[in-house]
Amino acid sequence: MEGFVYTASPARVIFGSGTLSELPAEVERLGLRRALVLATPQQAKEAEGLAARLGARSAGIFAEAAMHTPVDVTARAMAEVAEREVDGIVAVGGGSTTGLAKAIALRTDLPQIVAPTTYAGSEMTPILGETSEGVKTTQKSVKVLPEVVIYDVELTLSLPPALSAVSGLNAIAHAVEALYARDANPIVSLMAVEGITALARSLPRIMEDPQGREARSDALYGAWLCGLCLGSVGMALHHKLCHTLGGTFDLPHAETHAIVLPHAVAYNAAAAPVAMARIAGAIGAPDAALGIYDLAGRLGAKRALRDIGMPADGVERAADLALANPYWNPRQVERAAVRDLLARAYSGDPPR
Ligand code: NAD
Repeated sequence: MEGFVYTASPARVIFGSGTLSELPAEVERLGLRRALVLATPQQAKEAEGLAARLGARSAGIFAEAAMHTPVDVTARAMAEVAEREVDGIVAVGGGSTTGLAKAIALRTDLPQIVAPTTYAGSEMTPILGETSEGVKTTQKSVKVLPEVVIYDVELTLSLPPALSAVSGLNAIAHAVEALYARDANPIVSLMAVEGITALARSLPRIMEDPQGREARSDALYGAWLCGLCLGSVGMALHHKLCHTLGGTFDLPHAETHAIVLPHAVAYNAAAAPVAMARIAGAIGAPDAALGIYDLAGRLGAKRALRDIGMPADGVERAADLALANPYWNPRQVERAAVRDLLARAYSGDPPR
C-alpha cells in the first residue's frame, strides 16, 4: 500500500430515529444557555418545535436561511445573535440552513448543533460557500465545522421524493469524486463505497415508499458518509462544473449535481479505472457512468440541464468558465471535451 495522509473530522454524531430528543441534553452538554434555532421559511415550524423543546435555553428562531448563503441574510442573523445574546446555534434543515449556521460560526466561533433534513452533507464539511452580489466564494475553515450533528431519520420523512432523489445523487457525487481525488486515501475510499452502496440501494425504495423508515435510515447513513468524503478530500471536475453552472445560471444545486454527474464520470473514466470499478460495483451496474445515468432515470430525476433553466448559449460560456480556474482532475481538463460533456448534459443524452 502507498503511504497516505488522513485527517479526521472532530464532530460528534448522533444517528437514529427519534434522536432529536437528545437535543436538550446536547445543548446542556455544550453549556449553552441561549441557543438560536435556524431554518428556512419553509421549515419554520420545525424550528419552532426545536425551540419549544429547548425551553429556557432557547433564544428563539431565525427562519430566513436561503440557498447559497447570501451575506445579507447572514448580516440580519448576526444582528439577532447580538441582540438576543445568543451563545450557540441549532440548525434544522438542508445545506442552505447549515450554510447559515456555518456563516455565523465563521464570524463568532459559536458552537453549532446541526440536524440535517436532506442528503447534501454540508454538516460534515469545513467548507462554506457565501454569495454576495451574485458572486459565490468558497472557503475552508475548521471554525465552520459543526460540533454536534444529530441525524434523525424522522426529519427526512417529509423530504419530497423528487428532492430526495436529486439530493441523494448530490451525495453520491461527493463519494464518486473522493474515489478519484488527488489526495484519495483508503479510509475515505471505504466510506465512499459504503456511502454510494447505501444510497443506490435505498433511493429506489424511497421513491416507492417515501415513509419507509428502513430505506430512509439507509439513505441518511449513506449521505453522512458521502458528506464525510466531501469534507475530507479534494473534489474535481464534477464539483467545479456544478459550482460554475449553479453560480452563473442560478440553477438549483442538487438537480444540477444529479444531471452532470454521469457525464463527469464518463469524462474521467479512462483516467481513473480503479475508481470506476469501485463506483460501478457500488451502484450494481457494469459501467459507472451509465449506471449513474440509469439510476437517475429510475428515480425519475431530470437528466437535461435545459429542463432546469440552463440557457442554450450557456454551454459555451460554462466551458470557458470551467477552464478559467480548473480544479485538479484525474484527466486533463480540455475545452473541446468539456464542451461536449456540457452539450450532452444540456440535452440529457446518455454519457459518453
Ligand atoms: P436546501 O437546504 O436549499 O433545501 C431545499 C428546500 O427543501 C428548502 O426549501 C428546504 O426548506 C426544503 N427541505 C429541506 N429538507 C426538507 C425536509 N426534510 N422536508 C421538507 N422540506 C425540506 O437544499 P440542499 O440541497 O440540502 O442544500 C443546498 C445548499 O447547500 C446549496 O447552497 C449548496 O451550495 C450548499 N451545500 C454546501 C455544502 C458544503 O459543504 N459547504 C455541501 C452541500 C451543499
